[in-house]
Amino acid sequence: MKDWTASQLQTLDANTLWHPYGSATQAPETYPVSSARGVRLQLTDGRELIDGMASWWCAIHGYNHPVLNRAVTEQLEAMAHVMFGGLTHAPAVRLARMLTDLTPPGLDRVFLSDSGSVSVEVALKMAIQYWFSVGQPRKQKLVALRNGYHGDTFGAMSVCDPVTGMHHLFGDVLPKHFFAPAPTTPFGEACSDDDLREMAELLEQHHQDIAAVIVEPVVQGAGGMRFYSADYLVRLRALCDAFDVLLIYDEIATGFGRTGKLFALEHAGVEPDILCVGKALTGGYMTLAATLCNQRVSLGISEGEAGAFMHGPTFMGNPLACATACASIELLLSQPWQRRVQEINRGLEIGLSPARELANVAEVRTLGAIGVIELKEAVDMDRIQPMFVERGVWVRPFGKLVYCMPPYVMNPDDLAILTAAMVDTVAQLA
Ligand SMILES: *Cc1c(COP(=O)(O)O)cnc(C)c1O
Repeated sequence: MKDWTASQLQTLDANTLWHPYGSATQAPETYPVSSARGVRLQLTDGRELIDGMASWWCAIHGYNHPVLNRAVTEQLEAMAHVMFGGLTHAPAVRLARMLTDLTPPGLDRVFLSDSGSVSVEVALKMAIQYWFSVGQPRKQKLVALRNGYHGDTFGAMSVCDPVTGMHHLFGDVLPKHFFAPAPTTPFGEACSDDDLREMAELLEQHHQDIAAVIVEPVVQGAGGMRFYSADYLVRLRALCDAFDVLLIYDEIATGFGRTGKLFALEHAGVEPDILCVGKALTGGYMTLAATLCNQRVSLGISEGEAGAFMHGPTFMGNPLACATACASIELLLSQPWQRRVQEINRGLEIGLSPARELANVAEVRTLGAIGVIELKEAVDMDRIQPMFVERGVWVRPFGKLVYCMPPYVMNPDDLAILTAAMVDTVAQLA
């Protein structure tokens, strides 16, 4: 295996593998990676890339971190995995206690699962099973926001933006839910009742059929990298209460400090009934996610007809993943992470702001350790991806968005290289 050259790997890959949203016939170039350390990806051809993506929000501490490596190897020596049906173990219990301590007080029960999409499936099933259990089986519909992204499995996909989520491809297999407009009031500003008018109308007209509203608080990620008013969340909570509808927050992207707060919900100070976390949960080491809920939901489900919540993944509570998540959270909290995220935000603001002058740029925006250059037209990936690699950075645009969410450990010099590469590359496209 070690003897394959970079180009052999690329060819074998192109002939056998799917990549995310990939084609089997028009596979774009892939870059073989041999190792990763700190904020750098080492390519098999010897080049090094400064990673601006944190492997899609996950690798907040950078790669090959000694503390996380130790957590994995220590747990590995005890046990890699045991089933969670009828058995339990310290890594899962510790992680659940950490999560309930760090999230709003009402959220006191944790369902562990293997990926973000599954944690969303679990959240949707909890909401629907709750209403069934309390004698309102009609309440099965969901309300989601346009531009939202919640994952790629069927249930999760059904609450993604219908257009960017390609709902038309899946016909009647996909459940039909309600969509409200994406909030337009920018982060940091108060919104008006008008911003929630359509949401309020939907809830008023259909609340007898609606189980829950699901949103990504403050940051809509893969559906557009949009930042919106935390005040929207305050008003949305009030609407959900008024119409007796549950509220689900998907913090899979925003959790663990990315927006400058440990969880984005802290910007608004309101509690959801159900909360999904994933991505950075294990510091990018292993796939793990969690769905937290409050007592209303957990008791409602447990005292209902089924007497149990009907979900149970094979790898539920995987000890390796749980132990790594505990270590990652402890590592985060043992550091001045708020200051780091603030410093990264300052670096992103300074570094990306020259892009505001470019004719092909619609908007530059930053929040916490997220930096976005939104172009007027969609980028040509086949052209732009090699340009970034030649500049020694790993940035993976989509659509009109050239964006980054670096590991929190990125130093100012590397951050300046990353932002300069983003601005220069966008300028070259102009
Ligand atoms: C990535 C993401 C998901 C899906 O998580 P997977 O681990 O890819 O299944 C769901 N919601 C949000 C907000 C995400 O960013």
